[in-house]
Amino acid sequence: MKHPITKRTGERCIMKPVDEKSIDECLVKWQPLLSLSDWDIRSIVVQKTNWRKSGDVKIDESNRMAAVMIKSDLDPVYLEQVVVHELLHIKLWGLDQMIEESLNALFGEEDSEGKRIFAQGQFMRELEATTQDLARALLDASGFKGDYLFNRVQKQIDGEIEKD
Ligand SMILES: [Zn+2]
Repeated sequence: MKHPITKRTGERCIMKPVDEKSIDECLVKWQPLLSLSDWDIRSIVVQKTNWRKSGDVKIDESNRMAAVMIKSDLDPVYLEQVVVHELLHIKLWGLDQMIEESLNALFGEEDSEGKRIFAQGQFMRELEATTQDLARALLDASGFKGDYLFNRVQKQIDGEIEKD
């Protein structure tokens, strides 16, 4: 399913409960900005209560297809930034895969290998931090004035650490 090319407005995605349509609205705004218009990206709302993520993305690079998955109970205030974050994972996918393959070549594909676990962990942390920083910069540059989900999580972590 291709997304219709609609004119881009300066408006932010609408604040209402997360559904496929509201995710689509974010995609219509952000796919062209991130030069991802040639990708066929589906919106999926995840209802699973045991899903601990806010969002995720499945990528089929050879067909330029992807699915952006958003948890149904995500506060809609955070929808746009989670969609941008997941779109950046598509943008960074080539690099991501290259590093993944380098790790395989260096340490083998065995997940139980200590060096492999360490390198993979470091890589994932770097990837997430970079994705988060880029998402924040893009949202800031587009005029977003709200709170960031990542900041909120970080504040909770800081709060927990201070309690100890
Ligand atoms: Zn991520």
